Amino acid sequence: ENAALADELQATLKQVEHQATTDALTGQLNRRALDALLHRCVGEAEHRSFRFSILMLDIDHFKRINDTHGHPVGDQALRAVAARVSAQLRAGDSCARYGGEEFFVLLPGASLAQACEIAERIRAALSHGALATNPPLVVTASVGVAEYTRGMQVEGVLAAADGAVYVAKRSGRNQVRSAGEAEI
Ligand code: GH3
Ligand code: MG
Ligand code: MG
Repeated sequence: ENAALADELQATLKQVEHQATTDALTGQLNRRALDALLHRCVGEAEHRSFRFSILMLDIDHFKRINDTHGHPVGDQALRAVAARVSAQLRAGDSCARYGGEEFFVLLPGASLAQACEIAERIRAALSHGALATNPPLVVTASVGVAEYTRGMQVEGVLAAADGAVYVAKRSGRNQVRSAGEAEI
């Protein structure tokens, strides 16, 4: 009987851990989980020859979807975007919903150039064909890429990707930009 109780408690703990790290809407990682992973990656990159890049993806004109079709359809679109993004990733990569319509992807081992290729693949996959929403919607996203460089903090890597998204938005949206790239 005690063993059964222990198993039950163990299962409950697993469930709580899963809930604490998962975004309920999309089933991807949540912000807390991404922050924890990033802190580990920064620690590894500081002390070993380990590199990583991140990309930030912000859906273009997402407010229009909510305004036109309602919030529940907006939620469907977020789930569909998450599924389409994560379908492009390899084992070892992590996708997180960080804020409302903003996602981050963590790419361990990826250089900036490799991360830009992955970002472009994700951008193209997203814009190609309507999402499985009702009604079917075509969405695009602006993507910013940054590679960790020695001495950076977690906040710095996130800010670098965010700055690149800002440039992508200003350049007309539905495109990939990387941190450090000259602005046009
Ligand atoms: P931009 O191309 O400049 O990114 O335009 P945007 O409309 O995507 O950007 P903005 O930041 O103005 O709007 C984001 C919208 O995302 C506003 C908010 O209502 C919506 N949003 C945030 N979280 C959720 C959510 O969980 N569900 C739904 N349906 N909408 C959300
Ligand atoms: Mg946004
Ligand atoms: Mg947006």
